[in-house]
Amino acid sequence: MAVCFPKDHPMTIREGLKRLLLGPEPQAVPVLGRNDRCWCGSGKKYKSCHLAGDERKRTAERKAAAPPRRGAAF
Ligand SMILES: [Zn+2]
Repeated sequence: MAVCFPKDHPMTIREGLKRLLLGPEPQAVPVLGRNDRCWCGSGKKYKSCHLAGDERKRTAERKAAAPPRRGAAF
């Protein structure tokens, strides 16, 4: 599990700062394995049920959570 980002990757620093200030991001959607049963109780595999929808939702939430840059604090 070697994840290597450049040491001074700007996103990493910003994410680290944000995490320090705000704590870990709340997980609205449970993270399931692709082959686990979907959380909705359909009995289908997650990947063939809600996976795509959840991913989209998560992306949208992440976008919504990111504050617009107004040239303040940082
Ligand atoms: Zn589902």
